Amino acid sequence: MNLVRIENFFKENSIPAFRLNQIRDAVYKQYATDWEEIKTLPADLRASLAEKEGRLLSISPEEILVSQNHDAIKFCFRLRDGHKIEGVLMNILPEKWALCLSTQVGCAVRCAFCATGKRGLRRNLSPEEITDQFIFAADHLKKLNGCKIHSVVFMGMGEPFLNYNSVAEAIRIITSPELIGLGRRHVSVSTSGHVPGIRAFAKEFPQCNLAFSLHAADDVLRTDLVPLNARYPLSQVAKALQDYIAATHRKVFIEYVMLDGVNSSRSMPDKINDYLRTISAPKYFTINLIPYNRTGGPFRAPAPERMQIFQGLLQELGWEVTIRKSLGDDIAGACGQLAGR
Ligand code: SAH
Ligand code: SF4
Repeated sequence: MNLVRIENFFKENSIPAFRLNQIRDAVYKQYATDWEEIKTLPADLRASLAEKEGRLLSISPEEILVSQNHDAIKFCFRLRDGHKIEGVLMNILPEKWALCLSTQVGCAVRCAFCATGKRGLRRNLSPEEITDQFIFAADHLKKLNGCKIHSVVFMGMGEPFLNYNSVAEAIRIITSPELIGLGRRHVSVSTSGHVPGIRAFAKEFPQCNLAFSLHAADDVLRTDLVPLNARYPLSQVAKALQDYIAATHRKVFIEYVMLDGVNSSRSMPDKINDYLRTISAPKYFTINLIPYNRTGGPFRAPAPERMQIFQGLLQELGWEVTIRKSLGDDIAGACGQLAGR
């Protein structure tokens, strides 16, 4: 829903402003997904809004898939122009659900291991298309089990900082108390290393969380895996993260996809250690090792024991390290599997 557009329509037609507040509350607080659900509006106004605006939300569900153990729900949405995107609700703790949002149709970064990047970038999402994923998922969850969305992670399709303005506006809508009202500490953005984006995010959203997808601590391998590294090499990202920590005093989450025989050998923890120490002390980082999820490429995840050894080596060097549990890989809803096909 685009409140600004509706506001203009109301001004042009001299519709009183309190009607706008009714729509705002119905959508952002009650998670209405259809004009007909906004019963506080007179029926004729609902009808003229439906005629003028089309559907209330800019996205419509094509398919909803539930993982076998019910801890992940994947939504496939169709946009007004026919493109498709995906979002995933994940049950991270008892009664606690995190929503993974998409920010672009496809992705221009084209990491070697990621399904989203396979066909490049189709287009950016608008703020409305990002926040409508939240409204739809929140309504679904409310009806399913009465739970509210606990946190939002911008880790779906797309590189958030290559669509910075829409992502920033979506975060404002999601976190403004008079709009959706989720706490800023419950919002995390993951970037493949877009330096201007990290800098802008530090200024504008110092209370939100930042994750950096490292995947390799030397430039040659990292450029192979994450082509954006050619534009923003590790040394530049290090400076941006240093400034981020100095400005926000917040921890940075380091993501590391484990690819067998590529970036998971026993010599890698030392390189990671050296690199991160050039930025800041270990207390400012949590390293998340992500087992590679299949996307049809040549990669494989290392055996679980090997990942534990890798984790142990980093821990001995002083780092806090977790191995991420893959939720929803049976419905192609795990990290890197979202393709919007
Ligand atoms: N574009 C952003 C955010 C979306 S991807 C970024 O790259 O950070 C979210 C996370 O999933 C990133 O850390 C990404 O590297 C990881 N990922 C991508 N493909 C994956 C795969 N096949 N298996 C596991 N993790 C993957
Ligand atoms: Fe884009 Fe992130 Fe996938 Fe890389 S991992 S292609 S940056 S969505």
